[in-house]
Amino acid sequence: MTDQTPPGYRALTEKTVPAYLDGLAAIRQRLGGTPADWRVAEVGDGNLNMVFLVDGPEGAVCVKQSLPYVRSFGEAWRMPLERAYFENCYWSAVGPHVPGLAPALYHYEPSLFCIVMEKLAPHIILRRGLIAGTRYPLIAKHVGDYVARACFHTSDLGQPFDDKLDDMAIFAKNHPLIRITVELVFADPYRVMERNRWTGPQLDATAAELRADSALKAAASRMGHRFLTAPQALIHGDLHSGSVMVTESDSRVIDSEFAFYGPIGFDTGAFIANLLLSYFAQPGHATKENDRIAYRAWILEQIPIFWNTFRDGFLTLWRTQAKGDAYPTNLFTSAADEAALEKEREAFIDSVFADTIGFAGCKMIRRLFGFAHVADFDSIKDADMRAGCEKNALALARMMLVEPHRFKKIDDLLKAARDQNTDS
Ligand code: ADP
Ligand code: MG
Repeated sequence: MTDQTPPGYRALTEKTVPAYLDGLAAIRQRLGGTPADWRVAEVGDGNLNMVFLVDGPEGAVCVKQSLPYVRSFGEAWRMPLERAYFENCYWSAVGPHVPGLAPALYHYEPSLFCIVMEKLAPHIILRRGLIAGTRYPLIAKHVGDYVARACFHTSDLGQPFDDKLDDMAIFAKNHPLIRITVELVFADPYRVMERNRWTGPQLDATAAELRADSALKAAASRMGHRFLTAPQALIHGDLHSGSVMVTESDSRVIDSEFAFYGPIGFDTGAFIANLLLSYFAQPGHATKENDRIAYRAWILEQIPIFWNTFRDGFLTLWRTQAKGDAYPTNLFTSAADEAALEKEREAFIDSVFADTIGFAGCKMIRRLFGFAHVADFDSIKDADMRAGCEKNALALARMMLVEPHRFKKIDDLLKAARDQNTDS
């Protein structure tokens, strides 16, 4: 392929996947029959990787393989293959803590940089469901629970620091994807970059204003600094609505290749940002039959459910399963000790909330003016309508970054979002 690919690596194709899987006894058994009976479809719709779904007479698997470049950009944007390794390491560390909330992992192939995992079916990507106007009654609870468990158990509250440092040493090497976040989320929207795009000409002036907005650039950079300097837990690193697959009753988080030790609010902020983007995009999906007004309200209602589930879940784990070196439990024995500790817990969660607001603001803006956009807006055909929706989202995101004092509680965010949805 290229001089960068290690010996033994080859990009799999729909044709070559069966022969590869045939060499894995457990997978062969899981699929049943022989390779000739297996149907393979490449479905990767993400930015980076190849994803094959394989159906056999008795079972199914999903094969995800790294490519040596950014798929959605082309071969000119080189990208090391190791992201599959980090995705696999993340699931090894976090999977046991999030039963039923992630796909089961079956196999990792170091030489091919590929993961064989459970095929999720009939799940669809949450973002698609939100664009279609589908309600998922359990989604906010499931993802809130996911972040609470994944982050608590990998933090200094949930595990000894020795284990955390070992994991930090692994994920500290995830440079290429951390660089993508550092540049695409915290810097690119605020500078001239060829890979940036936005709805033009409607938002040309807005994009220029962004690049001259000193207060906003300072706030976004402050969050970028925080991202790099707060190794609170092993975070997923890309927890948007395209990284969650759903049915009405089941929710699974996928695609953890951006994982590293960072601030918990980056994960909670990512999920909230994408609910807000979906909320602001809804007028663009309204039809005569469905004005999306009730649906839009439903999306907003998911935000406090998500946040409160995360908050209560994390605090409950801290009260009942503290195994870390931070806040040693044997220091807090009297009622007064317990009261003091409870205050600390609340203060910590409040700081995660403040991070959540700031990171969510950054994550929204990068989807409006950066490289990778979201289908919530891209699928709005009428560019004037799309630009109007995007302007509303930007106005809230800017407020979240430069006026953080307005957001003390989750309800403050809902109120500000409602106030900002001006076209309806
Ligand atoms: P990327 O890292 O390239 O963004 P993703 O992990 O997001 O790749 O996967 C791309 C797409 O493949 C998803 O949007 C989803 O449609 C499909 N997919 C990924 N994992 C699974 C799975 N375990 N089961 C079924 N489909 C999957
Ligand atoms: Mg990905």
